[in-house]
Amino acid sequence: MKKIAVIGLGRFGEAVSVALRASGHEVLGIDIEETRTQALADALSHVVQADATREGVLADLGLASFDGAVVAMGADIEASVLVTVLLKELGVRQVIARASSAIHGKVLAKVGADRVVFPERDMGSRVAQGLLNPDVLEQFELLPDYSIAEVNAAEFTHGHSLRDLDLRQRFGANVILIRRGDSVNASPGADDVILEGDVLVVSGPNEGLRRMGTL
Ligand code: ATP
Repeated sequence: MKKIAVIGLGRFGEAVSVALRASGHEVLGIDIEETRTQALADALSHVVQADATREGVLADLGLASFDGAVVAMGADIEASVLVTVLLKELGVRQVIARASSAIHGKVLAKVGADRVVFPERDMGSRVAQGLLNPDVLEQFELLPDYSIAEVNAAEFTHGHSLRDLDLRQRFGANVILIRRGDSVNASPGADDVILEGDVLVVSGPNEGLRRMGTL
């Protein structure tokens, strides 16, 4: 069980903190607004109403001993940068900070955030992707031009073995997993045949995956 603090209990902070709690972790929620801490008092392990940017607040709450913290306020850039600095100064091992713009993200990374997330931007692009290509169920960009994607098997693959399809040679794509209903083949081999309705997890360069009709 990890001890994690979530600072800023808006819609994003609430979703993060409730998910962490549901996974069994000890979650401290901090918000400047009492209405927000009251709203989550039963859902989280502890809630504290405080201005996290104020000198000593985070130290007094014992944040130095926490495994991680999420800086979840997005609108007040100064506050989010300040809180990120304070958390790293206290020695919190993993600080994930929410950025509301590219420049905000750059500053957060510069002041020591271990990871910067862009929830609005990422969700916006996922919604757009989902609309443009409903066969892409999930996409995770490992590098700017290299992804792992969960996709509905394209029509041209139906009834063919991985050997025949030669996706690696043609598109640079590796099939990592084949899901068929409730069963999963997590180490597909050359003789495995793809059927209509299969869901594939593939990795490869975006350009290749796009040509394959999956991105
Ligand atoms: P969301 O999109 O997550 O709903 P929001 O855009 O409504 O957030 P933000 O300004 O990003 O609002 O703030 C998120 C939460 O962080 C709010 O509930 C706000 O009260 C809280 N907050 C803002 N500044 C501080 C601070 N200095 N210390 C603690 N909590 C803060």
